[in-house]
Amino acid sequence: MEKTDIRSLDLDELTGLLQSWGEKPFRAKQIYQWLHIRHVTSFDEMTNISVKLRERMKEECELVVLQQELVQISKLDGTRKYLFALSDGNMIESVLMRYKHGNSVCVSSQVGCRMGCRFCASTLDGLVRNLRPSEILEQIYRISADIGERISNVVVMGSGEPLDNYDNLLKFIHLLSDENGLNISQRNITVSTCGIVPRMYELAEEKLQITLALSLHASSQEKRKELMPIANSYDIAEVLQACRNYFEKTGRRITFEYSLVGGVNDTNEDVARLCELVKGMNCHINLIPVNPIKERDYVQSEKHDILNFKNRLEKTGINVTIRREMGRDIDGACGQLRKRFLER
Ligand code: SAH
Repeated sequence: MEKTDIRSLDLDELTGLLQSWGEKPFRAKQIYQWLHIRHVTSFDEMTNISVKLRERMKEECELVVLQQELVQISKLDGTRKYLFALSDGNMIESVLMRYKHGNSVCVSSQVGCRMGCRFCASTLDGLVRNLRPSEILEQIYRISADIGERISNVVVMGSGEPLDNYDNLLKFIHLLSDENGLNISQRNITVSTCGIVPRMYELAEEKLQITLALSLHASSQEKRKELMPIANSYDIAEVLQACRNYFEKTGRRITFEYSLVGGVNDTNEDVARLCELVKGMNCHINLIPVNPIKERDYVQSEKHDILNFKNRLEKTGINVTIRREMGRDIDGACGQLRKRFLER
C-alpha cells in the first residue's frame, strides 16, 4: 500500500484522515503545526502526540524531508544556493536571497524541465518528474531552519515549469499561505511561467492574490520562437492576451521577465517593439542580464545596452527594474548547480 504523503495534506484532509482513525479534530491541528510551523523531520519530534498515534503515522504515512547535500554561500551578497536530495535520490536546487525587506526563497517546481528554453540550464536533460506539494514546501522549511529565520517571500522561479505541475502548485500555494501553517501572504508569492496559455486562464479563475510573472524574453513572435520552444504552441499575442485577462480577473499587476541576451534581443528595435507590445498594460518589466551557461554560446548584453534598454522603457512610462544579479559566483542561474553536481 502506498503511504500517505502527510505533509502534502491540507488541514481538512488531515482532519479527515485522523477522524477515520478515531482521533479528535484538535489532534489534526496539533500535527499540522508540527508539520508546517515547527517543520519536524521525524514523527517522534511530535512530543504532545501519543506514542501509539505516532506509530500509526509511521506505518501509514510518509514524512517528506529534504536532505541538504550542499550549500554554496555567495561572498558577494550572502545569497545561498542549496542542493537538496529527494527520497528517491533526485536532486533539486533552491536559492535564498537576503534583502533589506526580508528573506526570499526561490523554489524548484519540477526535477528538470521539458520546456527547452535555449538559455536555461534546467532543461538541458529534460523533465525527470514533478515535485509534490510537500517537496516544494520543504525547500522553504529546510532553508528557514538552516538560517534560523523566517521566510517572507517565495518565488517559484527555480527549475521546472510550475504551470506544467499545476495541481501540485495550487496545493503548495494553498498550504504555504494557510493561516494554520507558515501563513505567507499570497501577495508575497510569485509564480513564473514560460506562458502555457490555457493554464494561465485557469489560474486567473482561482482568484488568488499571487503575482504572475511571465517569461517574455522577446518582443516578436519570430525571436521568441528562437529562444523558447513553447512559443511554437502559443503565439506571443495570445500570451499577452492571457496576461491582460489575469490582471482583469485578479487585479494583480503582471511582471514580465526579459532576459537580455547580447545581440539577440537587446537592440533599439527590440525595445521599441516591446514598448508597443505592453502599451497600456498595468505591468512591471524585470530585465535580467542573461546568465551565460557553458552549453550555449549566449552572452550578456553590454552594460550600456542594458541601461539604454531600461531608459527607453522608462521614457514610455513603463515600470522597469534591472534584476540585481545575485549569487553570480555560486551557479546562481536555474539548474546550474544541479547540472554541475550530476556531471561530477
Ligand atoms: N519555467 C518558469 C520558471 C523558471 S525560470 C519560467 O519559464 O518562467 C525563472 C526565470 O529565469 C525565467 O524567466 C527564465 O526564462 C529565466 N532564466 C533561466 N535561465 C536563465 C539564464 N541562464 N539567464 C537568465 N535568465 C534565465
